[in-house]
Amino acid sequence: MFCRVIVDIVHENVAHTYTYMIPEGMSLQPGSRVLVPFGKRETEGIVLGLSETADIPEDKLKSVIRTLEDYPAILPQLLELAAEMAEQNHCPQAETLRLMLPAEMRGGRIRSRTIDVARLRVTADEAMKAAAAEKRSPKRRMLLEILADGADHAVRDLGVQVKDPSVPLKKLAEDGLILLEKRESLRTPCNLFHSADEKPPELTPGQKEALSEILPALRGKPGRFLLHGVTGSGKTEVFMAAVRQVLDLGKTAIILVPEIALTPQMVDWFRTRFGSAAAVLHSRLSPGERYDEWRRIRRGEAQLVIGARSAVFAPLDRLGLIVIDEEHETTYMNDHHPRYDARDVALSRCTREGATLILASATPSILSFARARRGDMMLLEMPNRVHDRPLPQVETVDMRKELENGNRTVLSGALRQALKECISRGEQAMLLMNRRGYNSFVSCRSCGYVVRCGNCDVSMTYHVGGTDNKLVCHYCGQECAPPSVCPKCGSSYIRYFGAGTQKVEDEVSRLLPDIAISRMDIDTTSGKDGHSRILDDFRSGRTRVLIGTQMIAKGLDFPKVTLVGVVSADMTLNLPDFRSRERTFQLLTQVAGRAGRGSVPGRVIIQTYKPDDPVISQAAAQDYRSFFETEFQRRRNSLYPPFTVMVRLLVESGSADQAERTANELYESVRKMTDGNPEWKKRVLLLNTDRAPIHLLRGKERTQVLLKLLVHPETEKLCARLSELAREEREGAEVYYEYNPTTMI
Ligand code: ADP
Ligand code: ZN
Ligand code: ZN
Repeated sequence: MFCRVIVDIVHENVAHTYTYMIPEGMSLQPGSRVLVPFGKRETEGIVLGLSETADIPEDKLKSVIRTLEDYPAILPQLLELAAEMAEQNHCPQAETLRLMLPAEMRGGRIRSRTIDVARLRVTADEAMKAAAAEKRSPKRRMLLEILADGADHAVRDLGVQVKDPSVPLKKLAEDGLILLEKRESLRTPCNLFHSADEKPPELTPGQKEALSEILPALRGKPGRFLLHGVTGSGKTEVFMAAVRQVLDLGKTAIILVPEIALTPQMVDWFRTRFGSAAAVLHSRLSPGERYDEWRRIRRGEAQLVIGARSAVFAPLDRLGLIVIDEEHETTYMNDHHPRYDARDVALSRCTREGATLILASATPSILSFARARRGDMMLLEMPNRVHDRPLPQVETVDMRKELENGNRTVLSGALRQALKECISRGEQAMLLMNRRGYNSFVSCRSCGYVVRCGNCDVSMTYHVGGTDNKLVCHYCGQECAPPSVCPKCGSSYIRYFGAGTQKVEDEVSRLLPDIAISRMDIDTTSGKDGHSRILDDFRSGRTRVLIGTQMIAKGLDFPKVTLVGVVSADMTLNLPDFRSRERTFQLLTQVAGRAGRGSVPGRVIIQTYKPDDPVISQAAAQDYRSFFETEFQRRRNSLYPPFTVMVRLLVESGSADQAERTANELYESVRKMTDGNPEWKKRVLLLNTDRAPIHLLRGKERTQVLLKLLVHPETEKLCARLSELAREEREGAEVYYEYNPTTMI
């Protein structure tokens, strides 16, 4: 017998399968991991298929050295998925196969952990008799008495009652009274032995209605659903009930949630509902925990996986359901190589494995909602909060008026007043700022005017360049000098915009000097538990005001928060990205959803220089439908996805010169490529090269070649070539191929 093996080496030259002989008596299946000779060394590989014949003479073939596990590590359906993804990404299968395994499993970097276990070898009566007869060693007597219950006892646990039990245990084993064994012990990230007896609440009419569509799909023809429910409508209970049904049918389920929402509380909550049937997978697990959870899933000991993006590859057999909560989140896009969108992977798995897919969000992505409207998914709506709790009341504050009235600080009069009242009532407040440093646009404080590119309808980015500060459009490369007076109203208050969380913190502590404040941003959350410490302080009430970046908007549930302030809605709105409106709507709606989760109704204050922008009023009214209609039209008119495809070749280099040179070379190659093919040329709407919006990131100089292409089969062929171009080896620079990237910073 022979097998085809993909070796675990990522290189163009080895991106195909190799044939090996299977030694007598070795049992292999597709998906088995093996050790094989490769050139002068040994390497790990994955068996893709078996055959009775080989296309190479036998004397030229080498044999498999050994198998790495006694079970196939990769399920057949996941082998197919890896092959499909390699084809879509134009990359070697060795790369996509790696997604299917915990990283630490490769290269044998992790072992299973064993513990010593003691157990009685004789009857309980005999043990008690022996204990009574044991005069010399009180330790041995105690151990026998404990072990007389007939159960397995970990030696480590025995050590709690009997000091240093190893020597007496060994003696008891020699006397034939007990057995000492090594037993594999799984490292589980939390307490596994929660009882699964938590009863779900009585469902609301909205929840029942959604389930009346989902449950039949789980039992019969698999469905595709987009569950659109306002914040607090109880979407979680809907998919919990769906999961329960799937498990009752003897099938398995995956729930994907944004990494940041995977708090210990959330995991605990799942465990109380589903007990040890639930496994978790996310990046904060230790390597040992991740490996052991993965094996629990692979062996079928866990039937429900809750995890971040990469849990979409969980090795569950008999898959019945995948749920993607907060489906609009950009975290579901993996921007590193090999690139994938967990939503697309989920769809592919569900189709291949006959499972149902549920995407859930209060603010579905434009793409998903468009699909649902077209009929590719069934739209399920839950327009009301549980128990008819009111949606928070949202007000917008016109920051232009604040300036007019002489207030040049970052907090409006209304927000100051609301903060004081909220704190004096003993409640809590959250203030939302934006990611710092990513965005620098020029806007007018008097009228809110923002300099935008006439070609592209995105805001232009401010570049500080020694003597010549300039504004650049990152989509088409157009440049202009920053205006010194506002072209719209003539005010001279037109300037670079940007204020950080630090500044807000200073102003709040001046306003409320006796109140403890937490600040959560990239600076304060470094370190392993930076995050949870800040959140714990706030949850427990030790701090009363939480100031943070987008991180605080997501999925957090603090019942005592009654006031949410958005310090500036304009930051996101003016991101140099065609999705800036979508992001703004999502952010404002999500953040508004943080207010009034408890019994006290919430209040939300949005500060902006553009109170008349429809996206602000739509978010304030929490009117997703009209937001969608406006935005969908705009995408059509300005030719943005889903009507077009954006492709970026991102260059990173230690040297600015090299980054620029590489981008220019790429640009020339792409031009030749498209000039040489009229079918391609027709589909290119835009082709340019420029510095990236963040031209320096983590010490790397960044440049880019950007293309906007019409949706068409020819475009896909061109993209395959562009991806190959990016993968060519070069000195001193890395090139990344990005297809409809989530952010273009
Ligand atoms: P969403 O995800 O739609 O924003 P959640 O699922 O977080 O909403 O639910 C909001 C709150 O309502 C949670 O505290 C949840 O425990 C509670 N809840 C959900 N369904 C019910 C129900 N049927 N009865 C009582 N409380 C519920
Ligand atoms: Zn103006
Ligand atoms: Zn432009």
